[in-house]
Amino acid sequence: MEQKNTIFINNCPVCGSDKFELFLKTKDYFLTNEEFTLVRCLSCSFVFTNPRPPDEELSKYYKSSDYLSHTARKRNAKDIVYQALRAVNIRKKYKLVNRFAKGKTILDIGSGTGELLAYFKKQGWNVKGIEPDRMARNFAREKHYLEIYENDKLSTFPDKSFDIITLWHVLEHIPDLNKTIENIREKLTEDGYCIIAVPNIESTDFKHYQDKWAALDVPRHLYHFSPDTIRLLLDKHGFKIVETQPMKFDAYYVSLLSEKYLNKKFSPLNALRKGYGLNKKAKKKNNYSSMIFVAKQK
Ligand SMILES: [Zn+2]
Repeated sequence: MEQKNTIFINNCPVCGSDKFELFLKTKDYFLTNEEFTLVRCLSCSFVFTNPRPPDEELSKYYKSSDYLSHTARKRNAKDIVYQALRAVNIRKKYKLVNRFAKGKTILDIGSGTGELLAYFKKQGWNVKGIEPDRMARNFAREKHYLEIYENDKLSTFPDKSFDIITLWHVLEHIPDLNKTIENIREKLTEDGYCIIAVPNIESTDFKHYQDKWAALDVPRHLYHFSPDTIRLLLDKHGFKIVETQPMKFDAYYVSLLSEKYLNKKFSPLNALRKGYGLNKKAKKKNNYSSMIFVAKQK
């Protein structure tokens, strides 16, 4: 890969301060091996990747084919496990959404190949998705007959169109954080809910793996939230958090990858053991690998 091009963010996206400290140096272990730096805002403690690639170059850091690898026609044992776990996950998400929803209109931002939305549609929901990856978008359209749009569609939906807007591990990838949250607020009905899942930089597994923590995932993850900083961001845009939930599965997946980054000898069993142990530790302080935040307008 040629010399990387970066831009420096001068103001904290959450509070606007221009004073940061070095938080951590890490690498893109997933794809390019390029080095990146995380800074922490001295005023609100928000951690973000800085400097980072310019918006127009971010797509270089995504491998499109990976999205579809688990959904291809030929299925091996790994795919079967993956699909079984995904089915469990979808039902859990559906249950959570249903506890809050006042109506049956949902927008999923970062809808991927569309399995979650397809499930909602089957239960009688009116579903729409936004997905930047062209292959994933087309797959969702052709296989599940879903209405999936490109990123710029978000601002053009009529105001108050959705009862629920979800972002499952998506917000940390979106360059314009503030505009996105602002748009979400406009597009939600007055008693609508926004459900956001993000990795937790204060989790026990980050503390364990540090710069090898797979959920740092630089530079694809531009932002590294904690329960406090996501609350600050949402609060700024007129939201309050009404419920916080752990995503326990994530500790296993993240451990699996982190163990791989940590050493050459890769032991899935060891990773599972780690994942279990880290979840147990996390339980004490409620600082799991990833967290789900349910928010509504104040
Ligand atoms: Zn700040």
